[in-house]
Amino acid sequence: MKLLTILLIYLISIAYVLAGTVYKVKVKSTLNIRKSASTSSSIVGSLKNGQFIYATSVSKGWAKFYKGYVSTSYLVKVTSGSTYLTTDKLNFRTGPSTKYGIITTKNKGTAITYFGKDPFTTSWGVTNNGYANTKYLKAKSQAKPQTKPTTTSSLKITKILSNKKNYGNQRSTSNIKYIVIHYTANNGDSAKSNGNYFKNNVVKASAHYFVDDNTIVQSVPDNYVAYSVGGSKYNNKGGRLYKKATNSNTLNIELCDTKKDKTVMATSQTINLALSLVRSKMKQYKISKNNVIRHYDVTGKSCPAYWVNDSRWKKKFWNKF
Ligand SMILES: [Zn+2]
Repeated sequence: MKLLTILLIYLISIAYVLAGTVYKVKVKSTLNIRKSASTSSSIVGSLKNGQFIYATSVSKGWAKFYKGYVSTSYLVKVTSGSTYLTTDKLNFRTGPSTKYGIITTKNKGTAITYFGKDPFTTSWGVTNNGYANTKYLKAKSQAKPQTKPTTTSSLKITKILSNKKNYGNQRSTSNIKYIVIHYTANNGDSAKSNGNYFKNNVVKASAHYFVDDNTIVQSVPDNYVAYSVGGSKYNNKGGRLYKKATNSNTLNIELCDTKKDKTVMATSQTINLALSLVRSKMKQYKISKNNVIRHYDVTGKSCPAYWVNDSRWKKKFWNKF
């Protein structure tokens, strides 16, 4: 019994909180406002077509608002209005004056829905939260158009999937914590030649992407583990993230060497395309600049050999994010 009482009080309180409804008047001429919820009760005023009211309760075809009662037959429930922001801490009330009760209070900068002005006052408006003084509301300015180009949409990625024996299990992309940069260590190759090599050979090694001057090849899907940074630690200065960055939590990108000049060095075009790919993946998986690393940082392997020098790596690649 006691529980039922508590439940009832709870339900009544919910009903009370949810009671507020915004209506738009829909009549040909005028709509009478009555003293009580009956057509025989006295008329205390009227509303015109298109005006808004905030009803605190609705019962048996009558909506109650601060002026009195109106028949819901001539009202249309409205939910979409204009988004306004509160310019100060603001009370929303059951009627258009401070003498009416407070329904809710919103902090400065809260987005609310504004429908229109109250028909009987000059500076109060009807909102989704009740009546509010429009002096403390301003229209939300339109969102600024995005100035930065979205790299994700402009990147064309060619899929040449590796032989399944070269990579590991499926994973959630939410496991991706690091983006690791590698080099293919070839003197002259392309993203496609690497893609085809891993597709046609079983080598138990892999990377997610191969990048050359104008092509990005996906060899292992992002949601699969690539065999890229496993193996033991080299006895040198690298490997600061050994056992922290692993095959399971890394996305691996290989830089090709399109210029066969015996230098084994990625061209500036390849580097630029790799930068675009990394940027889009950083955004996609919310990876910070600090977690864009070299294979060298994981095991100490000289990869990419031309960037094991920290300042060179930063100058040529890492600082560009
Ligand atoms: Zn590597």
